[in-house]
Amino acid sequence: MIIVLLGPPGAGKGTQADRLAARLGIPKIATGDVLRAALRDGTPRGKEAKAFMDRGDLVPDSVILGILQDVMNSPATAKGAILDGAVRTVPQAEGLGIMLAEIGKKVDKVLLFDVDDEELVKRLSTRTVCEGCQTPYMGRLPGSECEKCGGRLVRRKDDEPEAIRNRLEVYRSQTEPVIDWYKDQKMKVTKVDADAPVDEVTARALEALGESESGVKT
Ligand code: AMP
Repeated sequence: MIIVLLGPPGAGKGTQADRLAARLGIPKIATGDVLRAALRDGTPRGKEAKAFMDRGDLVPDSVILGILQDVMNSPATAKGAILDGAVRTVPQAEGLGIMLAEIGKKVDKVLLFDVDDEELVKRLSTRTVCEGCQTPYMGRLPGSECEKCGGRLVRRKDDEPEAIRNRLEVYRSQTEPVIDWYKDQKMKVTKVDADAPVDEVTARALEALGESESGVKT
Protein backbone atom coordinates (compact mmCIF):
# COMPACT_ATOMS: atom_id res chain seq x y z
CA MET A 1 0.00 0.00 0.00
CA ILE A 2 1.36 3.40 -0.96
CA ILE A 3 0.15 6.15 1.35
CA VAL A 4 0.75 9.87 0.78
CA LEU A 5 0.70 12.07 3.88
CA LEU A 6 -0.10 15.72 3.24
CA GLY A 7 -0.33 18.57 5.74
CA PRO A 8 1.45 21.74 6.78
CA PRO A 9 4.84 21.74 8.52
CA GLY A 10 4.34 21.01 12.22
CA ALA A 11 1.16 18.96 11.72
CA GLY A 12 2.92 15.87 13.10
CA LYS A 13 3.24 13.96 9.80
CA GLY A 14 6.70 12.62 10.74
CA THR A 15 5.62 11.28 14.12
CA GLN A 16 2.47 9.73 12.69
CA ALA A 17 4.37 8.31 9.70
CA ASP A 18 6.70 6.46 12.11
CA ARG A 19 3.74 5.03 13.99
CA LEU A 20 1.83 4.03 10.86
CA ALA A 21 4.99 2.46 9.40
CA ALA A 22 5.48 0.33 12.52
CA ARG A 23 1.81 -0.62 12.58
CA LEU A 24 1.50 -1.46 8.87
CA GLY A 25 4.97 -2.98 8.39
CA ILE A 26 5.97 -0.72 5.50
CA PRO A 27 8.77 1.88 5.52
CA LYS A 28 8.37 5.60 6.07
CA ILE A 29 10.00 7.69 3.36
CA ALA A 30 10.49 11.30 4.45
CA THR A 31 12.13 13.39 1.75
CA GLY A 32 13.14 15.94 4.42
CA ASP A 33 15.13 13.20 6.25
CA VAL A 34 16.68 11.99 2.97
CA LEU A 35 17.74 15.57 2.15
CA ARG A 36 19.16 16.24 5.63
CA ALA A 37 21.18 13.01 5.40
CA ALA A 38 22.46 14.07 1.95
CA LEU A 39 23.43 17.43 3.44
CA ARG A 40 25.32 15.79 6.33
CA ASP A 41 27.10 13.47 3.90
CA GLY A 42 28.00 16.42 1.65
CA THR A 43 26.59 14.76 -1.51
CA PRO A 44 25.84 16.85 -4.64
CA ARG A 45 22.11 16.41 -3.91
CA GLY A 46 22.62 17.74 -0.37
CA LYS A 47 24.66 20.70 -1.60
CA GLU A 48 22.00 21.58 -4.17
CA ALA A 49 19.24 21.44 -1.54
CA LYS A 50 20.94 23.32 1.32
CA ALA A 51 20.09 26.96 0.53
CA PHE A 52 16.45 26.11 -0.28
CA MET A 53 16.06 24.17 2.98
CA ASP A 54 17.66 26.85 5.16
CA ARG A 55 15.20 29.45 3.86
CA GLY A 56 12.22 27.11 4.23
CA ASP A 57 11.72 27.03 0.44
CA LEU A 58 10.96 23.87 -1.50
CA VAL A 59 13.91 22.21 -3.20
CA PRO A 60 13.48 21.81 -6.98
CA ASP A 61 11.02 19.15 -8.19
CA SER A 62 13.82 17.46 -10.18
CA VAL A 63 15.70 16.72 -6.93
CA ILE A 64 12.61 15.29 -5.22
CA LEU A 65 11.61 13.22 -8.25
CA GLY A 66 15.17 11.81 -8.33
CA ILE A 67 14.81 10.73 -4.70
CA LEU A 68 11.36 9.25 -5.27
CA GLN A 69 12.61 7.36 -8.33
CA ASP A 70 15.44 5.78 -6.27
CA VAL A 71 13.14 4.97 -3.38
CA MET A 72 10.20 3.54 -5.32
CA ASN A 73 12.48 1.28 -7.37
CA SER A 74 14.21 -0.05 -4.25
CA PRO A 75 13.34 -3.51 -2.83
CA ALA A 76 12.72 -1.77 0.52
CA THR A 77 9.43 -0.36 -0.80
CA ALA A 78 8.28 -3.54 -2.56
CA LYS A 79 5.32 -3.90 -0.14
CA GLY A 80 4.56 -0.19 -0.09
CA ALA A 81 5.61 2.99 1.65
CA ILE A 82 4.37 5.87 3.74
CA LEU A 83 5.39 9.03 1.93
CA ASP A 84 5.89 11.76 4.52
CA GLY A 85 6.14 15.24 3.01
CA ALA A 86 7.38 13.67 -0.20
CA VAL A 87 4.71 15.23 -2.42
CA ARG A 88 4.58 19.01 -2.06
CA THR A 89 3.83 20.32 -5.54
CA VAL A 90 1.50 19.31 -8.36
CA PRO A 91 4.45 18.37 -10.66
CA GLN A 92 5.73 16.06 -7.90
CA ALA A 93 2.30 14.41 -7.59
CA GLU A 94 2.15 13.98 -11.37
CA GLY A 95 5.73 12.66 -11.55
CA LEU A 96 5.13 10.19 -8.73
CA GLY A 97 1.96 8.93 -10.45
CA ILE A 98 3.83 8.37 -13.72
CA MET A 99 6.77 6.56 -12.12
CA LEU A 100 4.44 4.33 -10.10
CA ALA A 101 2.37 3.47 -13.19
CA GLU A 102 5.60 2.37 -14.91
CA ILE A 103 6.15 -0.26 -12.21
CA GLY A 104 2.48 -1.28 -12.03
CA LYS A 105 1.70 0.59 -8.82
CA LYS A 106 -0.34 3.60 -7.70
CA VAL A 107 -0.99 5.81 -4.73
CA ASP A 108 -3.59 3.94 -2.66
CA LYS A 109 -4.47 6.45 0.06
CA VAL A 110 -4.01 10.15 0.69
CA LEU A 111 -4.31 11.52 4.24
CA LEU A 112 -4.39 15.23 5.02
CA PHE A 113 -3.29 16.17 8.55
CA ASP A 114 -5.10 19.31 9.58
CA VAL A 115 -4.01 21.78 12.32
CA ASP A 116 -4.66 25.54 12.90
CA ASP A 117 -1.87 27.97 11.93
CA GLU A 118 -1.57 29.30 15.49
CA GLU A 119 -0.94 25.81 16.86
CA LEU A 120 1.53 25.06 14.03
CA VAL A 121 3.64 28.11 14.82
CA LYS A 122 3.61 27.21 18.53
CA ARG A 123 4.68 23.63 17.78
CA LEU A 124 7.46 24.54 15.34
CA SER A 125 8.91 27.31 17.47
CA THR A 126 9.25 25.01 20.51
CA ARG A 127 10.48 21.97 18.55
CA THR A 128 13.91 20.39 18.87
CA VAL A 129 15.04 17.31 16.94
CA CYS A 130 17.68 14.67 17.57
CA GLU A 131 20.60 15.34 15.25
CA GLY A 132 21.17 11.57 15.11
CA CYS A 133 17.83 9.79 14.62
CA GLN A 134 15.71 12.89 13.79
CA THR A 135 13.11 12.21 16.52
CA PRO A 136 11.24 15.46 17.19
CA TYR A 137 10.54 16.75 20.72
CA MET A 138 8.26 19.58 21.86
CA GLY A 139 9.45 21.96 24.57
CA ARG A 140 12.82 20.23 25.19
CA LEU A 141 15.84 22.52 25.21
CA PRO A 142 18.62 22.25 22.61
CA GLY A 143 21.53 20.25 24.05
CA SER A 144 19.23 17.76 25.87
CA GLU A 145 19.66 14.05 25.20
CA CYS A 146 17.46 12.03 22.82
CA GLU A 147 15.47 9.37 24.67
CA LYS A 148 15.72 6.99 21.74
CA CYS A 149 19.39 7.06 20.74
CA GLY A 150 21.18 9.34 23.22
CA GLY A 151 21.93 11.87 20.45
CA ARG A 152 21.95 15.64 21.02
CA LEU A 153 18.78 17.68 20.50
CA VAL A 154 19.16 20.70 18.23
CA ARG A 155 16.88 23.35 16.74
CA ARG A 156 16.39 23.04 13.00
CA LYS A 157 17.52 26.10 11.09
CA ASP A 158 14.18 26.12 9.28
CA ASP A 159 12.32 26.27 12.62
CA GLU A 160 13.51 29.88 13.13
CA PRO A 161 10.54 32.35 13.02
CA GLU A 162 11.31 33.78 9.55
CA ALA A 163 11.67 30.34 7.96
CA ILE A 164 8.53 29.06 9.73
CA ARG A 165 6.48 31.91 8.23
CA ASN A 166 7.93 31.18 4.82
CA ARG A 167 7.26 27.43 5.08
CA LEU A 168 3.60 28.06 5.93
CA GLU A 169 3.25 30.41 2.95
CA VAL A 170 4.96 27.90 0.67
CA TYR A 171 2.56 25.23 1.94
CA ARG A 172 -0.48 27.36 1.14
CA SER A 173 0.70 28.37 -2.33
CA GLN A 174 2.45 25.23 -3.58
CA THR A 175 1.29 22.21 -1.57
CA GLU A 176 -2.41 22.90 -0.99
CA PRO A 177 -3.11 22.67 -4.75
CA VAL A 178 -1.95 19.03 -4.52
CA ILE A 179 -5.12 18.27 -2.51
CA ASP A 180 -7.35 19.35 -5.39
CA TRP A 181 -5.08 17.61 -7.90
CA TYR A 182 -5.65 14.26 -6.14
CA LYS A 183 -9.39 14.97 -5.93
CA ASP A 184 -9.41 15.71 -9.69
CA GLN A 185 -7.78 12.29 -10.18
CA LYS A 186 -10.80 10.82 -8.35
CA MET A 187 -8.66 9.99 -5.32
CA LYS A 188 -10.26 10.37 -1.91
CA VAL A 189 -8.30 12.74 0.32
CA THR A 190 -9.18 11.95 3.94
CA LYS A 191 -8.80 14.77 6.42
CA VAL A 192 -7.43 13.79 9.85
CA ASP A 193 -7.90 16.34 12.64
CA ALA A 194 -4.35 16.39 14.04
CA ASP A 195 -4.95 18.90 16.85
CA ALA A 196 -5.14 16.16 19.48
CA PRO A 197 -2.81 13.95 21.58
CA VAL A 198 -0.46 11.80 19.48
CA ASP A 199 -2.21 8.48 20.27
CA GLU A 200 -5.59 9.92 19.34
CA VAL A 201 -4.27 11.18 15.99
CA THR A 202 -2.76 7.75 15.27
CA ALA A 203 -6.11 6.11 15.99
CA ARG A 204 -7.84 8.58 13.63
CA ALA A 205 -5.26 7.98 10.91
CA LEU A 206 -5.59 4.19 11.21
CA GLU A 207 -9.35 4.51 11.00
CA ALA A 208 -9.00 6.68 7.89
CA LEU A 209 -6.86 3.92 6.36
CA GLY A 210 -9.48 1.31 7.21
CA GLU A 211 -7.31 -0.26 9.92
CA SER A 212 -8.43 -0.54 13.53
CA GLU A 213 -6.09 -0.14 16.53
CA SER A 214 -6.42 -3.87 17.29
CA GLY A 215 -5.03 -4.77 13.88
CA VAL A 216 -8.36 -5.92 12.46
CA LYS A 217 -9.26 -4.31 9.13
CA THR A 218 -12.38 -2.18 9.43
P1 AMP B 1 10.57 18.46 6.37
O1 AMP B 1 11.56 17.72 7.21
O2 AMP B 1 9.56 17.54 5.76
O3 AMP B 1 9.96 19.62 7.09
O4 AMP B 1 11.39 19.06 5.13
C1 AMP B 1 12.43 19.99 5.35
C2 AMP B 1 12.74 20.75 4.09
O5 AMP B 1 13.18 19.85 3.07
C3 AMP B 1 11.56 21.49 3.47
O6 AMP B 1 11.33 22.75 4.06
C4 AMP B 1 12.06 21.63 2.02
O7 AMP B 1 13.05 22.62 1.91
C5 AMP B 1 12.74 20.27 1.79
N1 AMP B 1 11.77 19.25 1.27
C6 AMP B 1 11.41 18.10 1.85
N2 AMP B 1 10.54 17.43 1.09
C7 AMP B 1 10.33 18.18 -0.01
C8 AMP B 1 9.52 18.05 -1.18
N3 AMP B 1 8.72 16.99 -1.39
N4 AMP B 1 9.58 19.04 -2.11
C9 AMP B 1 10.38 20.10 -1.95
N5 AMP B 1 11.16 20.32 -0.88
C10 AMP B 1 11.14 19.36 0.09
